[in-house]
Amino acid sequence: MNQLTTIAIQGAMDCEISALLKEMGEYKEEKHGGFFYYIGEIGELPVVVSKTDIGFVTAAASTTLLIEKYQPSIIINQGTAGGHDPKLFVYDLIIGNEVININGFRTGILEQGQGSDPTTWVHLDSLFPDENGVHPAPEVLTSDPKLVEIVLATASTYTYGKVVEGTIGSAEVWNREMDRIHWLRDTFNTSAEEMEAYPAGKIAKLNNIPYLSFRIISNSEVIDDDTEDLETAGIYCAEFAVEVVKAIGRNL
Ligand code: SAH
Repeated sequence: MNQLTTIAIQGAMDCEISALLKEMGEYKEEKHGGFFYYIGEIGELPVVVSKTDIGFVTAAASTTLLIEKYQPSIIINQGTAGGHDPKLFVYDLIIGNEVININGFRTGILEQGQGSDPTTWVHLDSLFPDENGVHPAPEVLTSDPKLVEIVLATASTYTYGKVVEGTIGSAEVWNREMDRIHWLRDTFNTSAEEMEAYPAGKIAKLNNIPYLSFRIISNSEVIDDDTEDLETAGIYCAEFAVEVVKAIGRNL
């Protein structure tokens, strides 16, 4: 891997970054455009922890400012997610080999009184062509393969569940509708759903910055477990992020 400048690690909520700040011990807090950035070191590597806040708008805006202000050489987006795969349990981790936008759809024409059936909606084509000039629907972002390798090699340090590769879908919805979850999984092969991985990854990709996304299951409608513990899940995922950053340092 090339010489690193700063590694950026993002989390939307306090519980998704607190373990990173704890590991840094001493850090400097900076605020740009309303977003918080925490500058310090993990395992002697320079890091900036970015609190993106929840959702697409804030994830994209805070990633843009992150790049402008700190020129990170890697962007890691991590945090909680809702499970789509019945084989994934609460506290399992998914590496986002693929990160997709499950937010942008075109509806058919229905008249007043005909209701709404989101399962008939068609995904909007991406405005941005891929390397073959195709405008994919949905656009698939990939985590950097070298970074994915490092996460897989770090997986044995994670003791709260398993670590798998999969597809993370991002939408501006907290979704507890079983039929919608099944439709998303059938249509896009999603392993889990959350609200920031795609917009952050999109901005990273537009700026040619290697991107890595991994998410922890904090809740899942498709398994027999009513847990919805974002706090604990957020901490576990960020603790794993600490190990990933240290492993990146060892691979320089
Ligand atoms: N306490 C809030 C929930 C946080 S919003 C409330 O109930 O209003 C959801 C945050 O957790 C987002 O940052 C998203 O990325 C993540 N997340 C976890 N599980 C999710 C799910 N099932 N659907 C969507 N986002 C989820």
